[in-house]
Amino acid sequence: MLSEESLDKDWQDFANCLGVDPDLFFPERGASTREAKEVCRGCVVREDCLEYALRNSEKFGIWGGMSERERRRIRRQRALERQEALEVIAETQAIS
Ligand code: SF4
Repeated sequence: MLSEESLDKDWQDFANCLGVDPDLFFPERGASTREAKEVCRGCVVREDCLEYALRNSEKFGIWGGMSERERRRIRRQRALERQEALEVIAETQAIS
């Protein structure tokens, strides 16, 4: 049986960025992310990569075709949705 850690790593075997210069995915502040995102665009494990970065709160680099700022936006959106879902549950329980 695969552990969660090995499952986490399996997707990396299919990464489009294998063999690509890692510096491309960790550009200096203000530098273009276009080339890295272009590599990610055709990547079959893009979703896994993005979820891995979100789950592990990766602060730097391009993951799943998204920059730190774009991932922060997703995390905020998800936190908001979780909060709203909890409020709905609380209201439902209060009514019944
Ligand atoms: S989405 Fe981008 S960074 Fe992630 S594995 Fe694919 S090519 Fe690499």
